[in-house]
Amino acid sequence: MAPAGSPGASGAGALQQSGLAHPRRPRRMSPSARVLAATLALLLSACASVPTPPAATPAPTMPPGTTSPTTSGAPAIVVRPPNIDRSYTSQNQDSRALYIVLHYTVIDWEKSLKVLTTGGQVSAHYLVRDNPVASYALVDENRRAWHAGASFWAGNTNLNSASIGIEIVNPGFVDSAAGRVYAPFPQAQIDEVIALVRDIQKRHQVKPERIIGHADIAPGRKQDPGPLFPWKQLAGAGLIPWPDGPLVLLKTLEHEVAPRDIAWLQERLSRIGYNISRTGQLDVVTKEVISTFQMKYRPRDISGTPDAETAALIEVASTPSAMRVAGASDTETRPYTSRW
Ligand SMILES: [Zn+2]
Repeated sequence: MAPAGSPGASGAGALQQSGLAHPRRPRRMSPSARVLAATLALLLSACASVPTPPAATPAPTMPPGTTSPTTSGAPAIVVRPPNIDRSYTSQNQDSRALYIVLHYTVIDWEKSLKVLTTGGQVSAHYLVRDNPVASYALVDENRRAWHAGASFWAGNTNLNSASIGIEIVNPGFVDSAAGRVYAPFPQAQIDEVIALVRDIQKRHQVKPERIIGHADIAPGRKQDPGPLFPWKQLAGAGLIPWPDGPLVLLKTLEHEVAPRDIAWLQERLSRIGYNISRTGQLDVVTKEVISTFQMKYRPRDISGTPDAETAALIEVASTPSAMRVAGASDTETRPYTSRW
């Protein structure tokens, strides 16, 4: 810093404006003016040897319960902190994560990671890589990931707010002259998905019927994780309910003899959780919902045609007591009784 009194000295401009530092012509100073000039000179001399003060002046601290002043004349803002006592905890609560939603990415690992972590407006809590197989945590489970979009399941909408999203690296499908061809999942990747879903399900106590696919909550708009995703393996691992096999065979015979109408199927699909109205017509939405249902339970034919086997599966899947969840410790099945 320049010495006090030089042209570059701190405060020189102010002094020049005031006429005290470099008076244009000599004149007599009053006693009070001389005292003021001496005081300023003393202050500048001290300033020359001290560090530069911080540029911003810290805001004055406000004692609790007071208000901060405003310069615009607007009402004052209360800054009193809350007085929180954390001695008590309610037993009546559960996790915000009510659902686990499974997806495939359609794009490869590098692109998936980039889209899900940078400005693509989409994300997931986890990304399961295909080669080498590994799970990557991208969003904290207590925060929302943007994976579901417009969605509906069993009366719930906006699934982003109540779910854990898992993206699985997989190319999805290509449409060819022979029809739509889906890409298979490596078994090692499925094993990782099962381990990850089990871990999340246990920590958040997600109900088996709430482990679902993106297509389930957006039929027609989405197909993932597609008909080659082995939902039956998740059932075998005790993670999701599965229709009782002998009962499906019996019901298939019944539906072959006495088919039910479309309104009945729509009401049953709605009971399972799908967003479908009872129009009584095999309309576009109804075929899309049936096709989505078939992808999970009967992937051999996903045409959306309500054949006898599909009707039997729909009937069993919409009857909670007829759904089975494999035991975690053995291969025994136990009645599935949780509410829909
Ligand atoms: Zn998806």
